[in-house]
This record gives sequence, C-alpha cells and structure tokens, in this order.
Amino acid sequence: MITSTMMDVPLQVRRLLEHGATIHRGSRVVTATGTGTHETTFADIARGAARLAGALASLGVQPGDRVATFMWNNHRHVEAYFAVPSMGAVLHPLNIRLFPEQIAFIANHAADRVVIVDNSLLPGFAKLLPSLKSVRHVIVAGAADRGVLEGTGVGVHDYESLLAAQPVTYDWPDVDERAAAAMCYTSGTTGHPKGVVYSHRSIYLHALAEAMPDAFDLSARDLMLTVVPQFHVLAWGLPYAAFAAGTSLAMPDRFLTPEPLAAFVTAARPNKGAGVPTVWVGLLQHVEAHPDADISSLTELVVGGSAMSETLMRGLDARGITGLHAWGMTEMSPLGTFSRPSLDDAEEDVDGHRLAQGRFAAPVEARLLGPDGEVLGWDGESVGELEVRGPWITASYYRENDEEHFDDGWLRTGDVGTITSDGYLRLTDRARDVIKSGGEWISSVELEGHLAAHPAVAEAAVVGVPDEKWGERPLATVVIKEGEQADAAELREFLATKVAKWQLPERWAVVPEIPKTSVGKFDKKIIRAAYAQDDLNVTTLG
Ligand code: ADP
Repeated sequence: MITSTMMDVPLQVRRLLEHGATIHRGSRVVTATGTGTHETTFADIARGAARLAGALASLGVQPGDRVATFMWNNHRHVEAYFAVPSMGAVLHPLNIRLFPEQIAFIANHAADRVVIVDNSLLPGFAKLLPSLKSVRHVIVAGAADRGVLEGTGVGVHDYESLLAAQPVTYDWPDVDERAAAAMCYTSGTTGHPKGVVYSHRSIYLHALAEAMPDAFDLSARDLMLTVVPQFHVLAWGLPYAAFAAGTSLAMPDRFLTPEPLAAFVTAARPNKGAGVPTVWVGLLQHVEAHPDADISSLTELVVGGSAMSETLMRGLDARGITGLHAWGMTEMSPLGTFSRPSLDDAEEDVDGHRLAQGRFAAPVEARLLGPDGEVLGWDGESVGELEVRGPWITASYYRENDEEHFDDGWLRTGDVGTITSDGYLRLTDRARDVIKSGGEWISSVELEGHLAAHPAVAEAAVVGVPDEKWGERPLATVVIKEGEQADAAELREFLATKVAKWQLPERWAVVPEIPKTSVGKFDKKIIRAAYAQDDLNVTTLG
C-alpha cells in the first residue's frame, strides 16, 4: 500500500461548532416564545456552548460522562448539542413524551450524570427525578421555582447563573473521532427502547451529506423550521448540518399545535421545514380553516418518520410547497434516502418518485432480502426486507445483546419494500405492520393513503387483527373531519375503487383520534390492544 499524503485530521463536532461560529457567525437560531420570537446568532450559541462546557466541567463532568437534556427545540438545547460532545462528554436527549417509567429506564440504562431541564418541563421532571439513579446535578433552563427539586440530594442549578460565572471560551480537548458524541434511544414504536450511540465521525459525515442538494439542500440562505424534536434522532441531525452549512434554525419550543405553529411560521418566515406527516397535516388543516394564517414563506417541507400520503403531497402542492420524502431510522442517524426527482425522470414519474421514500445517500449501502434470505434484485417489483450498512449506521445497540437486528455486518431495518433499478426505495410497510391475510400481504400504508384521500377523512390508520379464516385481516380506524360525515359503508365503497376486493377491510371503527407515539407516529400497538379488549365500536361489513 502507498500511504497517502493527506493530513489525518479527526472529524469532530467541535469543528462544526467552530466553523458555524466564525464563517456563519450571523446565522440565527430563532426560538418561539409563545408571544413572539427570541433570536440568537451562531456566534452567541458558540459562546453559550463554551460557557456551558465550563459549567459542566465545574460540576465534575468528565470525558465520556452522559449529559442528558429534557428540553424542547430551542436555542439552549442547541448550545447543549455542541457543548457536550465538544468537551468529550456524551449528549443524551431524553424523549420527554415517553411514560415516566420508560424515561427512568432509559436514563438509568444510559447512566446519565447531569440533566439540563427546560423550566416548562420542571413539574413533570421533579416527579421523575427520584427514580433517576445516576443523576448528580440538574440544571434548570429559564426562570422557575427550583424548590420542587429540593431535598432530593441532587445539585440544583440555574442555567443562566451557572453559565454567567464561566468564560466565553473553552479549551476544547482533541477527541478521538470514533469516541461517543451523543446517544438516542429508539422511540419504541415496535419494541422496548434501545440505545444508539453516535460518534463524532458519524455526526460529521452525516451533517455534510444531509446538507447536499439532493438531500436537505441546506445553505446559508435558508431558515429551517425544525419541528422534528431534538430528542428524536438528534432532530434528524439538523443542528449539526445547519452549523456546517450556515443554515438558520427556527425552533418551535413547546408551541407545537397547529395554531401557535402557524403563528410562528408567520412571525419567523422559514422557507424550509422538517417533521413527521401528522405535523404538516395539522398545519394544512389549520390554514385551510383560517385563511388569514400566513405560511407563504414555506417552499419545501421534508416529511419523514412515516409515509407522506398523496393527499398531503397534493395539499402542500396547492399552497406552493414541495413536500419531500426522507426515510431513516434512529439507528441510521437517521438519513437513509431522500426523494428528489432527477433529470432522467419522465414527467409522469416525478410524483411517483416523490411518493417513494427516495434514493440512498452516497455512504448508505442497501440490499433487499427475500423470505428465504436470498438477495433480491433492484427491479422495482421484488418485495423484501431492507438491510443497510454505512458509516453512520449503528453496528449494535448500547449495552444490549441483540443479534436479531443485525445480519452479517448489515442492519436489518424491519422495513419492507422494493427498489427500482435506478435506486428509488419504495416502502410498502413495516414488517410488523404488514397484514398477512391468507398467504397474501396487504400494505397498511397503502390503505391508509387511499382513505386519507376521502374528503371527509381527517386521518386513518389500518392494522392487522386476528381472523379465524384468513389469519389476519385489516381493521380500518378513521377520524372524520369536523362538520363532515361518512360512514363505514361509504368509505368501503370509496376504497373499493382504489384497491383489489380481497384487500378491503371488513372491520371499521370511527374514532375521535388516532393514538400517536411519543414522536407523532400512529401507535398501532394501542389500536391492536383496543381492538383485542373490545374497546372500539367496530362495524363489520362485507
Ligand atoms: P421508531 O422505530 O420508534 O418509530 P424511528 O424514528 O427510528 O423510531 O423509526 C424509524 C422507522 O420509521 C423506519 O424504520 C420506518 O418504518 C419509518 N419511517 C421513517 N421514515 C419514513 C418514511 N419517509 N416513510 C415511511 N416510513 C418511514
């Protein structure tokens, strides 16, 4: 081997921070306050990050220690994103929406030493604290009555005063690029939460790839509405990509319901956004009902976490907003694919490609496996389970012996779909959500997409339920829009114009809302359980 002449410079989160703070020092983090917006620059964030690192060091935080956050998307959380990894510690954003027992399990499993908590989340956190065994210090961000934490034997600090005592520079250590920088737990849609630990190297490479034109297309001229929570796969890595590209961030804090979110868009005027479909469905429904709500600054919304329905894509189109699909997983940092059309696309293929999950980022390798473990071709027809590998894909779970999710150096995604010869991934379902009816597979995602297109339907979730004759059959649960009407028979007839007869659900339930997971996806476990316990008012047809 001939050795290269290139410098061996480690890929570190600290480099992204320094780059953003100097080259893009005027780029902004705009945070919603409920009554207006709060603005800081990347240069301010870097000074805050240095102070926070100093404060954490003064509390005894050592390289490798886990520093958790219990926060919304806001400027202080962005400071923590850079301070903690850059000082050699490990950032661990806790999912504030999980049940207290799950949060305690996760924080104890990760052995978090310090937790930074938003003041608005303090009451819930105070109840949780006694069950967090490894936590020694709590830092409360924002004015609050910290008395609720007294008597717990844990050091309690005010974020601003702690930081005010520290200098605005920090002597950042030279960390190994393979060292842990941050960790997230899967949100447990399909099983108990499992820890994924990201390295400096994986975060750095992912940030560069995410900013590329055929991915999020990030530049110093963009303001990105980051609705995807910072506790969910590091907000899809967007704060790191933003510092690499100079992209300003619009952070909604706790103002996430459609009305305040629309008001924040009106005030901050982001041109791009990222979030799960339910967020955008809610925003569109709100602006339809309130024509004075101004979201005209938005030109592109990235939809990920679950499938974007055609109805959502068209609804966005009608407002001059391009909905773009991204697919990924906690285990994948999360970027796997992105669905921008290419120059080769025939005009009639463009919408189809936008509705597919998209094409793979350069470092992500993929293969499809058939039922007997055989590798399937990329022919756009063979349906198989998707496996991936690459430099930002986890090779194991944190402190967990889990062979089942790995296959000879590949990650088994649990997602089922096809890949075309030019690399468009189209997911038909999650392996666990596919409805296995008499030897045939019915895609729950496809039925949901068609139902969502009915004018009276606000949301629809389809799950497989046990059936004596077929093994499993689809159950459709539907939310009807306010002021509209449709019954099961009408919806079934509507669906019959879209899918084969054998795929039509016999079981229907009109429900007030679809249960959602902590990150806003349909919680199919709860729907199946409600059905099993006879808690749904089911109409049987056909
Ligand atoms: P959880 O497994 O708890 O839902 P993740 O956010 O890691 O947490 O979920 C990853 C999964 O979400 C993927 O395996 C896939 O099933 C689904 N998913 C993500 N993005 C998309 C998308 N664009 N279209 C369809 N499904 C998606």
